Amino acid sequence: MKDVGGDEKGGEKEGDLEQQSCRVNLGGIVPLSTVDWTGVAATVVFLRGCPLKCPHCQNWHLRSGESFEDLAVVEEKIRSASPFVSCVVLSGGEPLAQPRAARKIAGLAKELGLKVGVETCGFYPNVLRDLLEARSIDHVFLDVKAPLADPEYSRATGRENVAPKVRECLETSLQLGVPLEVRTTVFPEMPSREEVGTIGELLRTLGISRLTIQQGRPREGEEPFDPVPAKELRDLAEAVKKLIGIEAEYRVRGDDEDFDEDEQRK
Ligand code: SF4
Repeated sequence: MKDVGGDEKGGEKEGDLEQQSCRVNLGGIVPLSTVDWTGVAATVVFLRGCPLKCPHCQNWHLRSGESFEDLAVVEEKIRSASPFVSCVVLSGGEPLAQPRAARKIAGLAKELGLKVGVETCGFYPNVLRDLLEARSIDHVFLDVKAPLADPEYSRATGRENVAPKVRECLETSLQLGVPLEVRTTVFPEMPSREEVGTIGELLRTLGISRLTIQQGRPREGEEPFDPVPAKELRDLAEAVKKLIGIEAEYRVRGDDEDFDEDEQRK
């Protein structure tokens, strides 16, 4: 399987665009989800390929490889699900690695009266800017995996010099006034509690008032480990709110033994 190319214009090469003008490297489609855009019924389209190598990647099977589908197939699935959802979420892998497919799918969603969200690692600020300026995207869900500097960010993503791109995505979303949810996934070894605080400080400095802290779980096939318990994540979110002064929400999976949905703070 080959890796996605990693330039800032997205993973598609010009020749590929010509040859695969109506093809999408598709990882899958979930017709109805309420967890990707919290509380909103969404169709989630997973685009295959990602330039990063996060050590605990949950969607590692979508990082590389090829499983092309005609755009018409994707369109038909979105159209069928559209009476039951109010938005389409582009996810992956890294959906902005396929800028043309992302733009086309977003356009179709708009035609159907659906809002469009994108879950991105922030590697393609230029692609994100183009889509936001075209009003193709209504909501950005951006992973900030560590403080925005190397070596912390390269440790979290397996690649150097990613942090400036993520920062540009943050700034672009703010500049263009597009709703933004910043998500940080906490694993036992990283980011540390102090590093989550550093991320919170950065957000406050930029004028972003909210951070979502997610519980990192072992990915399929990796050496199992105990996730950070829900109580610790709750305390961390409380500390971010108290010490840094931004809103923080924590999320765990429903099978966490410490999980109590009523206790989740916003
Ligand atoms: S950015 Fe997401 S899809 Fe890409 S390697 Fe990291 S966790 Fe996996």
